[in-house]
Formats: sequence, structure tokens, C-alpha cells
Amino acid sequence: MEILKIENLSKVYGKGETAVKALDNVSFSVKKGEFVAIIGPSGSGKSTLLHLLGGVDRPSSGKVYVDNTDIYNLNETQLAIFRRRQIGLIYQFYNLIPVLTVEENISLPMLLDGHKVDQKQFADIVKTLNLENRLTHLPNQLSGGQQQRVSIGRAIISNPAIMLADEPTGNLDSKNSSEIIDLLKMLNKTYNQTLIIITHDERIALQADRVIMIEDGKIAKDEVVRP
Ligand code: ADP
Ligand code: ADP
Repeated sequence: MEILKIENLSKVYGKGETAVKALDNVSFSVKKGEFVAIIGPSGSGKSTLLHLLGGVDRPSSGKVYVDNTDIYNLNETQLAIFRRRQIGLIYQFYNLIPVLTVEENISLPMLLDGHKVDQKQFADIVKTLNLENRLTHLPNQLSGGQQQRVSIGRAIISNPAIMLADEPTGNLDSKNSSEIIDLLKMLNKTYNQTLIIITHDERIALQADRVIMIEDGKIAKDEVVRP
């Protein structure tokens, strides 16, 4: 089953002489539960693509369907709700809210939409992420690996259909990197959660089911490694 389909997606930043075509007519589909690595040179359009898949930005043209919903047909409010419910986003520098505790950062996507946090689910997530003793800490009281685990917690609290990660290990040492990748792979395999990771790390790309290479805003290669 296809969870994600993009059609003729393009993104141009700016106007006139200074316009930059970051993404140029890209199309592909992703199956539910697939683990996709996106690789390619710096500036080739990878982050732009990920943001468009996650409903974070709007395309200049083209379509993004998530679970058959044409997401850019939604208005801003609907799109924000869609994003919090269906997309888990993980960034290189965590993007946690500095004045909120670990517990509050993880719960935030649910609270913003007026939902209660399921206490059993919260406890399970915190245990899986080994954050039980850090719930009242603020982000700056945590190591990088711990902060990234909090951001994974925030990403999975709403049971999203798709996890999108932009260089999730780019700021971590090799031990913490493996921990984070193992966690993401576990969520991918155990819950059949679709996982799309931008990475410069070949060791991570080699673990994916499929590797898409982006160059100059286009797909230069798309290889299924594990069908
Ligand atoms: P990558 O993630 O592969 O490094 P990006 O998607 O970040 O690539 O960038 C693709 C191109 O779009 C680059 O030329 C970059 O400078 C440009 N770009 C990215 N974001 C913006 C923006 N907000 N405004 C203008 N240009 C941008
Ligand atoms: P790592 O395990 O990634 O090497 P650190 O050496 O940075 O992490 O941190 C070790 C422990 O110290 C962690 O459990 C973390 O919670 C705690 N810690 C790190 N930085 C701070 C800080 N600024 N304030 C309080 N505790 C911290």
C-alpha cells in the first residue's frame, strides 16, 4: 500500500533573477513501512523535499498525497493539524522548546490539538526512549543523544503515519548515532512506521530498504535495496 505519493513536485525560492529552483519536477511513491534514505550533495534539495513531504512548506507546483489526502489542498489550520497527527519530524538540532520540560516537549503535539495524552502510551514511549529519569529536565540539561530521544518522543506521541528525519545523527557521536538509528529502525520494523531519513552517513544509507539520490533538485538514482 502506498502511504505517500508525490507528483511533479517543484519548489522555487525567491523571484526573478535571484530565483532558485530547489526542486525540479520530482515524482515518486513510498510504500507503508518502507525505510527510505535520501542522499545527495549539500544544496541539492533534500531538506526542501522533506519539508514538502511533511507539510511544512508549500510547493511551487505539484502534489503531495499522504494516505490519499492531497495535503496542499488543506487550509493552514487543517494542514497544521494534519502535520501534528500524521507526520513525525526529527531535525539535526532537535528543535525542542527550551523553556518546556522533557515531558512537556513530548506531549506538546497532542496538547496543541486539545487531546489528552494517553498515560499508558506516554509511559511506554518514555521507557523505550530511556528517559524515565529525565521527565522534569529542560533540554539544555540533557546530552545531545538524550535531546534527540526527546524529539523522537515528540514525533511518535501522535502515532504518525510517517517519520521524517533530516540528518538526525549529524550532531551526534558514533555511539549516540547508532542508538538513534536503532531506535528509528525499531519503530519502523515494530510498528511498520514509514521512515524517510536524509543522511550523509553511508553506514545509515546502507541500512535502508531503498536509497534515493537527489542532485540539482532531481532524482539522480532510486534503488530498492531490500524489496
Ligand atoms: P539540501 O538539503 O540538499 O542541502 P536544500 O533543500 O536545503 O538542500 O536547498 C536546496 C537549494 O535551495 C539550495 O540552493 C538552497 O540554497 C536553496 N534554499 C533552501 N531553502 C531556501 C530558502 N528558504 N530561501 C531561499 N533559498 C533556499
Ligand atoms: P553523553 O552521554 O552524550 O556523553 P554528556 O556527557 O553530555 O552526554 O552528559 C552526561 C550526563 O550529564 C547526561 O545524563 C546528562 O543528562 C547530564 N548533563 C549533560 N549536560 C548537562 C547540563 N548542562 N546540566 C545538567 N545535566 C547535564
